[in-house]
Amino acid sequence: MDYPMFCYQCEQTAGGKGCTKVGVCGKTPEIAALQDLLVYQAKGISCYAKELIKKGEKINKEIVSFVENSLFTTLTNVNFDRDAHEKMLRKSQEIKQDLRSKVSSCEDCCEQAAYNLSDTLDGMLEDAKKAGIMYDQTLDPDIRSLRQTIIYGLKGISAYGHQARELGYYNDEVDEFYFKALAATCDDKLTVEDLITLTLKTGDMSVAVMQKLDEANTTVYKNPAPHKVNVHYKKGPFIIVSGHDLKDLEMILKQTEGKGINVYTHGEMIPCHGYPELNKYPHLVGNFGGAWQDQQKEFDNIPGCILMTTNCLMKPRDSYKDRIFTTSVVGWEGVKYIGKTETGEKDFSEIINKALELGGFEEDQEPKEILVGFGHHATLSNAPAIIDAVKSGKLRHFFLIGGCDGARPGRNYYTNFAKKVPKDCIILTLACGKYRFNKLNFGELEGLPRLLDVGQCNDAYSAVRIALALADAFDTDVNCLPLSIILSWYEQKAVADLLALLSLGVKGIYLGPSLPAFLSPNVLQYLVDTFDIKPISTPEKDLAACLEVPVK
Ligand code: SF4
Repeated sequence: MDYPMFCYQCEQTAGGKGCTKVGVCGKTPEIAALQDLLVYQAKGISCYAKELIKKGEKINKEIVSFVENSLFTTLTNVNFDRDAHEKMLRKSQEIKQDLRSKVSSCEDCCEQAAYNLSDTLDGMLEDAKKAGIMYDQTLDPDIRSLRQTIIYGLKGISAYGHQARELGYYNDEVDEFYFKALAATCDDKLTVEDLITLTLKTGDMSVAVMQKLDEANTTVYKNPAPHKVNVHYKKGPFIIVSGHDLKDLEMILKQTEGKGINVYTHGEMIPCHGYPELNKYPHLVGNFGGAWQDQQKEFDNIPGCILMTTNCLMKPRDSYKDRIFTTSVVGWEGVKYIGKTETGEKDFSEIINKALELGGFEEDQEPKEILVGFGHHATLSNAPAIIDAVKSGKLRHFFLIGGCDGARPGRNYYTNFAKKVPKDCIILTLACGKYRFNKLNFGELEGLPRLLDVGQCNDAYSAVRIALALADAFDTDVNCLPLSIILSWYEQKAVADLLALLSLGVKGIYLGPSLPAFLSPNVLQYLVDTFDIKPISTPEKDLAACLEVPVK
């Protein structure tokens, strides 16, 4: 059967316009259709939930968690498994019917609320057509653009919300916002102005969820502190933990204790080495490889196992398909999935046994260490020295260079930019965009490393805390600080991060490597006019503009 496909939610979208035949990420038209329908169902659930919230009722947290996971499942490079989608769709109908039975009248409710899921997969795929982004050809392009921007912001929020919830933390306002915002994206009465307001509110909620996740991580695993990480491998059996989930890493570390297995972080997990309650395990030996887009090459024929806790999962090659495992919301057809037991724990014995069977690396590599662990707590403990250095003119400017990495050649911009940053400036970095330059030696400035690794993508919150504290110390606002933000985006968590920065009034952000295809010309113009968002040009030109000096 042929399924019409349209997806433009990430930076690598085909031709910079939209994936229509198959996703550049590997998403098939069938999975794309099921994901469209899952978001459609989440909107329907939200229409009823919003009615109940209006009456002062609380929505069961299991339903919140389901909607959160549904959004997260459809985020780029998370889930490519048809059965997992079908199961979630069937569950969505049960939830919707349950809420429908509690809402006596729902005059404002959208068609998504009234829809009943087909019993068959073919029926679902047929129905998915009307859930497609471009289904209503008459829809105003700015309305479509803003609705999709809100949905992509929500997907990013859902990833952070899911991670916090795994540790037992959540924010009630964010939980209700999922429903209010999803219902709003199918409300035809809302104008462009209403949706702009809601887009900025999505940014507020992004700040709130990142704050909650920071609280969860720093309470459970203590505040990150500077810590050296070996980025080369050691002899012996091993498990590589990829994604973002600290709890999954902790469970792997506990279950591998005393078994002679080395554990490596991968990609966005590298900041985990800064957390005292994680780096206390001596068999957390280092970080493996580069950013997500290198995985097919780096995992090829690897003599150990990999656990994908969240995105970014690429199509596993046959040479390692038998040794890569998924958990949580991640999935790929034919790849072993490890779910939770009845007690909420996970049994990783299969992956542990496989790692032992594979035997691991035969020799140690010469160690190479880099420094991580400069979250807001560690960085601000140096605040007096930083402030003195700025006041005395020894520290000229801060650059926050971060965000997602990706495969496009244009991303060399970020490496070249970091290399050209003058020696009297400090670079803060976060998320996997850091792999473009985090193994280079930037030296020190006034006793501080010139490259400070602030953490994962959600640690944009840490960067904001640092910026606000500095603004406070200099009795000014963030936009008047000697600080420039050079953002690289790829998937929807970066959309949530960007909306968070905009909602805080941060202006003049440099954004690349290309601008989101889902922004209509008018919406983009609004963002440029209001927030002075600048597309990246060349490192030389942008650096000179940031430092207000002539181009070299
Ligand atoms: S997630 Fe990105 S690459 Fe995948 S189908 Fe959508 S736009 Fe294309």
